[in-house]
Amino acid sequence: MKPPIFDYVVADSTEAALAALAAAGSDAKIIAGGQSLVPMLNFRLLKPSVLVDINRIPDLAFIEDGGDAIRIGALTRHRQLETSPLIAKHLPVISEAMTHVAHLAIRNRGTIGGSLSHADSAAELPMLARLLDAELTVVSSAGRRTVAAHDFFQGQMTVDLGEAEMVTEIRIPKLPEATGWGFAEVARRGGDFALAAVAVTLTVAAGAVARARIAMMGIGETAQRAGEAEALLTGQAVEPGLLDAVVEAVRASVEPNTDLHASSDYRRHLVGVLARRTLSDAWRRAQGAAA
Ligand SMILES: Cc1cc2nc3c(=O)[nH]c(=O)nc-3n(C[C@H](O)[C@H](O)[C@H](O)COP(=O)(O)OP(=O)(O)OC[C@H]3O[C@@H](n4cnc5c(N)ncnc54)[C@H](O)[C@@H]3O)c2cc1C
Repeated sequence: MKPPIFDYVVADSTEAALAALAAAGSDAKIIAGGQSLVPMLNFRLLKPSVLVDINRIPDLAFIEDGGDAIRIGALTRHRQLETSPLIAKHLPVISEAMTHVAHLAIRNRGTIGGSLSHADSAAELPMLARLLDAELTVVSSAGRRTVAAHDFFQGQMTVDLGEAEMVTEIRIPKLPEATGWGFAEVARRGGDFALAAVAVTLTVAAGAVARARIAMMGIGETAQRAGEAEALLTGQAVEPGLLDAVVEAVRASVEPNTDLHASSDYRRHLVGVLARRTLSDAWRRAQGAAA
């Protein structure tokens, strides 16, 4: 199918994009990489009267050291995240996860702002934003606000974003010293959306976990953290017996849907397997980082 007819506005500044969104009322859509929006237009799942193209806004694409956090512009492409030395140094779990997002041609165009705003339940970046306690800067012609990833994602393709609002920046705290990480996913073919994925970080002190973070996706409407499993790990060394209990807690915390691709039981089984694998990787890396 071809997309429905729409007007097309090329914005050369954030202010121009916000003005175009405000002028169009409820009927405009931002286009960034277009890798999710264009298929939805072609399938006529969306019929916006105006597309506001933000690709020529120069100050929206950056990866910068912001002291205790990395600041990332909304128009930063997946491939830039994958290859950034700054991300590799301070947030290596992102570098690894990005290699699993779609295919290279899609990663060359797709943007972090687009992925977070689109909020597909099987997308890696929303899960990483939950894992790493990211904050999003959201602007409109009425002003600017900061939203924690925890509050931003509300359901499948549903986020805390008004019609005339735009994400401009994502701020992600750097991983602390002595932190190990793990990422693993299962997809039917390379480049497909994953059936399930798990990402973790473990910060260690005095031979025990000082802080654990476990995020999962493919198990419901939106990525989620496994709070009870995180609590079980805190203050403990990661031993096989503890891992068994943590894996059970991870499985107990999810209620996956059955769909065309996998049953609920299979997805629940999968997140347990992936949790065990990623926690073992993170614990091993944390030992190396602490040495
Ligand atoms: C074949 C295929 C396989 C894929 N596989 C994966 C995968 O495995 N994992 C994965 O995570 N993704 C996958 N994707 C999606 C891809 O990563 C997209 O690039 C991404 O989801 C959307 O980014 P975009 O910049 O292309 O956004 P667009 O398609 O341009 O926009 C998506 C939505 O976000 C809104 N938007 C865009 N930018 C902003 C902004 N700054 N502020 C507010 N709203 C904004 C748009 O209005 C639209 O509603 C796949 C896509 C394809 C076509």
